Amino acid sequence: MKGIVFRKKSLEAYIKEHQGKDINLDEIVNVINIHHEKENGTRYLRQWEAYKGRKATGCSNLDCDNHQKCDSLVGAHVKIEGKENTWYITPLCHKCNSDDNNDPMPVRKEDLGPYMEVKEIEAE
Ligand SMILES: [Zn+2]
Repeated sequence: MKGIVFRKKSLEAYIKEHQGKDINLDEIVNVINIHHEKENGTRYLRQWEAYKGRKATGCSNLDCDNHQKCDSLVGAHVKIEGKENTWYITPLCHKCNSDDNNDPMPVRKEDLGPYMEVKEIEAE
């Protein structure tokens, strides 16, 4: 889709910007969107909330305008940059979950939940 602009800020840029501020940079990782099973984004968000025991309050991407203030989130499949084998679920806004977004996104580790297929959850 045209008209969507990503700022392409990396974790490195984020760290530079936030140095000295009240944020624990060890707790932040860059993640890449896998664009997997997007039709089940709402169910994955509910699964994430159940696992975390809290409601998602905004897009997990710290570099997103919708961070901490979005009510149309989905549970998106992501992997940590440089680590191919483990998938996670994290709440993202529709912009960050769009097919055009393949940029690294800085996310707090505490906002990553385990990836389990939704059918496993629903069978419980
Ligand atoms: Zn976002």
